[in-house]
Amino acid sequence: MTIQKQHSLSDPVTVLSGVGVRLQEKLERIGINVIQDLLFHLPHRYIDRTRLTPIGVLRFGHNAYIQGEIELTQVRYGKRRSLLCRISDGTGAIVLRFFYFSKAQEKGLQRGLSIRCYGQVRRGPNSLEIIHPEYRVLSDAQDDELDEQLTAVYPSTEGLQQARMRKLSEQALLTLNNDKHNLTELLPEEILAKQNLPTLIDALDYVHRPPPDADVQSLIEGRHPAQQRLAFEELLAQQLSLLELRNELRTEHSPAFDLSTQHVPEYLERLPFTLTNAQTRAYKTIASDLNKSVAMLRLIQGDVGSGKTVVAALAALQAVEAGYQVAIMAPTELLAEQHYNNFLSWLEPLGIDVVFLTGKLKKSIRINVETRLQDQTPVVAIGTHALFQDSVSFAKLGLIVIDEQHRFGVHQRLALLEKGQQHDKYPHQLIMTATPIPRTLTMTAYADLDHTVIDELPPNRKAINTSVISNERREDIIERIKHICSEGRQVYWVCTLIEESETLQCETAIETAEKLTEKLTSIKVGLIHGRMKAIEKETVMQDFKDDKIGLLVATTVIEVGVDVPNASLMIIDNAERFGLSQLHQLRGRIGRGEIKSDCVLMYQSPLGDLAKQRLEIMRTSSDGFLIAEKDLELRGPGEVLGTQQAGIPEMRVADLMRDAHLLPEIQNTAKTLLAQHPGKVKLLIHRWLGKNLDYSNV
Ligand code: ADP
Ligand code: MG
Repeated sequence: MTIQKQHSLSDPVTVLSGVGVRLQEKLERIGINVIQDLLFHLPHRYIDRTRLTPIGVLRFGHNAYIQGEIELTQVRYGKRRSLLCRISDGTGAIVLRFFYFSKAQEKGLQRGLSIRCYGQVRRGPNSLEIIHPEYRVLSDAQDDELDEQLTAVYPSTEGLQQARMRKLSEQALLTLNNDKHNLTELLPEEILAKQNLPTLIDALDYVHRPPPDADVQSLIEGRHPAQQRLAFEELLAQQLSLLELRNELRTEHSPAFDLSTQHVPEYLERLPFTLTNAQTRAYKTIASDLNKSVAMLRLIQGDVGSGKTVVAALAALQAVEAGYQVAIMAPTELLAEQHYNNFLSWLEPLGIDVVFLTGKLKKSIRINVETRLQDQTPVVAIGTHALFQDSVSFAKLGLIVIDEQHRFGVHQRLALLEKGQQHDKYPHQLIMTATPIPRTLTMTAYADLDHTVIDELPPNRKAINTSVISNERREDIIERIKHICSEGRQVYWVCTLIEESETLQCETAIETAEKLTEKLTSIKVGLIHGRMKAIEKETVMQDFKDDKIGLLVATTVIEVGVDVPNASLMIIDNAERFGLSQLHQLRGRIGRGEIKSDCVLMYQSPLGDLAKQRLEIMRTSSDGFLIAEKDLELRGPGEVLGTQQAGIPEMRVADLMRDAHLLPEIQNTAKTLLAQHPGKVKLLIHRWLGKNLDYSNV
């Protein structure tokens, strides 16, 4: 018998038994270097083998441990060869499905044998199924005992088995027992008492190895006090890191721009409309931010069509008048082009230089633009992220505007600031998004920004009538297109992402355009997708704007930007595959003129319950905020904003939706810590975010 050596939590994992170079490399890949890291590598779920569930009560989505007798095992040849094994326990039957299996495995699953398995229940073609369950054939149906406690499942990486992870965490817990004083409790006692939370050490012990009498349900749902305590600390660490960053930036010096007396009034004079109250309010706030020598970090949220671009132009004018350069970054080429055209028509009459920079420019033109930016004189540069590539340097950048923020993450945003830094001065930053960011997210991922909401649409907007229709009624819809076009109006047909592939999406659009061209002989059908050249896209868009095209078949490239007031009908194909916020953005392309507009969400039947619920929200609401909240509820923050783009580093225990109730107290605690225990702040951030959060090196 070997005696467990007395390790300390700060020892490298290689001191543990069984950890050689290869395992060490794998662990490093998931951020585990020292023994303490293993403690904070928390289970992301549990397997409950403490009880068996009768097959008859299984519902899809359940994770269940079941036992039954094998009734039939057979190999099914179809699109994909699979091994099917039907088991039953007298209350019901279920199919186990394997796509990868060996001959031996097939032989082992003999009719009449008893088997135990664990896995997630899904809807199969004919009955409920479990795909690739963990299973064990029993030698005697009676003999087998159940587990006494839940089994932790750890986030892992390729080639790192759960059994291995469990052994490692076992060793880490032993080390913790011997080295308790090295794991400091960082939450103030009064908080623990007030929230009724266990200590850090108790919480860690508990979540890694829940005792036999643990409340299984609360652990599985992540609501156990031990988990809540850790989630609290994790969210607190996140909050602190953003606040620290914010404080750091707020002390940096930025150029202060005088209020504009020339460009802004002249520009407003020339606009064919007057600003809405919300636009005026937003601009006033920005103007006073820019007037200070502290970096502005402001997020403008305004629903699609609320007129954010005009507000951005006003900010740009103030910077230019003060003698500074402005960079305006859009997420796509198409949107960058549209901004460029707008700004050109707005600013050139005022004698202001506007340049365009994207990755697709010819090298010679690019070099010209880059040279121009190295010149100290004011200029407004519009482009994609190409604006911030290494070869580009600005001589006197005073303001960065980022449009449609949801596509950029926190990291990118901060990298931009670094890029604009000159002699210890940072440019101001204005971020604009049409994705209303739900409150829970603004409190976390966007805690370093100030917020302004443009909560008013220009007065000429008409409500859009949205309907949800099965694609079995495609023909009716085609009739409707004929009707609309015969009245001289125009139509969008949006094709969705069939898979996560732009190529496939484009192919779908091409095919759809062909079919519709055949059916709608009297209508000119146009096509636009992401793989077309910028100039081709521009021509198509221009033709659509000029009413030379009646029906425009498009991929989601039209999501942002384009403004064609005569388009009054939009059909979104396979709408159930879209995120709600994205649907809302798309829908915002119509209803831009005086005519009443309609949006048809066409789905592939049959429609699941969740999808039904989601489309119903779209049908009944036109409130971008509400839609985003629902989207978040139904899909989680990662998907709403795109996992990386959410700017939320992946979390270990916390879940923004589930733990939202903790946020107010977390914000208070963050303030208390910053004021009273600054030493703990660093430790907390380091403990939870480690090296991931070195913003200066993004
Ligand atoms: P978004 O906030 O979605 O970016 P845009 O800035 O593209 O909106 O504005 C949408 C359209 O509304 C544009 O055609 C713009 O010229 C127009 N617009 C902006 N502000 C007003 C206003 N106050 N009154 C009327 N039309 C406006
Ligand atoms: Mg916009």
